[in-house]
Amino acid sequence: MSASRHPALLSTDPELASFVAAEEVLQAQTLRLIPSENYVSAAVLEASGTVLQNKYSEGYPGRRYYEGQQNIDRVEALAIERAKGLFGVDHANVQPYSGSPANLAVYLAFAKPGDTVMGMALPMGGHLTHGWGVSATGSWFRGVQYGVRADTGLIDYDAVRDLALAERPKLIFCGGTALPRTIDFAAFAEIAREAGSILVADVAHIAGLIAGGAHPSPVDHVDVVSTTTHKTLRGPRGAMLMCREEHARAIDKAVFPGLQGGPHNQTTAGIAVALHEAAQPSFTAYAHQVVANAKALAAALLQNGFDLVSGGTDNHLILIDLTGKDVPGKIAAKALDRAGIVVNYNTVPFDPRKPFDPSGVRIGTPSLTSRGLSTEHMPLVADWIARSVDAAAKGDEQALAAIRAEVTDLMAAFPAPGLPLS
Ligand SMILES: *Cc1c(COP(=O)(O)O)cnc(C)c1O
Repeated sequence: MSASRHPALLSTDPELASFVAAEEVLQAQTLRLIPSENYVSAAVLEASGTVLQNKYSEGYPGRRYYEGQQNIDRVEALAIERAKGLFGVDHANVQPYSGSPANLAVYLAFAKPGDTVMGMALPMGGHLTHGWGVSATGSWFRGVQYGVRADTGLIDYDAVRDLALAERPKLIFCGGTALPRTIDFAAFAEIAREAGSILVADVAHIAGLIAGGAHPSPVDHVDVVSTTTHKTLRGPRGAMLMCREEHARAIDKAVFPGLQGGPHNQTTAGIAVALHEAAQPSFTAYAHQVVANAKALAAALLQNGFDLVSGGTDNHLILIDLTGKDVPGKIAAKALDRAGIVVNYNTVPFDPRKPFDPSGVRIGTPSLTSRGLSTEHMPLVADWIARSVDAAAKGDEQALAAIRAEVTDLMAAFPAPGLPLS
């Protein structure tokens, strides 16, 4: 498989080539349910592996510190125009290396070390970079955290407001990594206005749903939109910061020269292609199918007796709470992996267990939807998950191997974008 796909790599470095080939097989054969992952198209893959890689281009289109930018400027300008058109924003910066440095640039643009910043607590579904203690953002800034209600699993907007008015944070982050429900950006905007805070929507997980019209857009409500490009948006690993004109200079200065040096031009090219793909009607259909699949999968899991945080999902993500089962999250995740179903273990809100050995499993439908699975397959997926968790409880490796064979069989009928047929 890899011999024809990466001939130069195979002849120069057969050892490394064998790892890539093995990963191609793994991604083709498994049912990938990690909600932050996806399959990029062959076009995105090609754009991300071009000679644009060879070019240094510190600065921005038309304002570079290196010569020879004739083509690079066009690539970056195209990515910027497409981001502005797709999300309906005044300004887009497509240079952040990834989601975490993008968020760090937001701090640099609007806050000073020691300032109070507010975000959702990591164990409640927030991201490390929203001021959580072990992150630089939680040690260089004073992070205060909100969460979800114990009874509903939903963001407690009254508590968010009380905390914001008591703390008057410089920055408020909304968005997260394990939030199965729609974010009320208007409610956050009201709170930020009252507290005098800059509001940042970190839509890393749901950017593709927003682009496809399957989740409300934060653009009219927030000061800055931060997003990765590689999750539901289905682009290369990278990030973007988008804002109104009034914040454009602060954001650009923070990314370069504030935080980064030369942009990764090959990634910018991949982002431009992904944004073009995301502007097509087929992507709107994709985004809605991701949500329909997640809702169908949630319903089937509930039927199989699983508890879900917040009782279900509005988006691409489901958080299974195994507190009532005999199997905690990590053991379940590892058993599912042996069954060919790739997930990640995750804390659930108010988790009685430790973060490295928590009670939850986090799953999502972006990848399986990219391969063409639809709602009719979700009862089968839920059944595989239920049987795998049962097998984990009993230590039944044979059952896991049998599920793996079934998974491989189904996935062979749904070739992944960007990958050769397995
Ligand atoms: C994934 C994610 C990030 C970080 O992105 P990286 O590219 O992994 O640095 C930031 N914020 C949220 C909400 C995310 O889900």
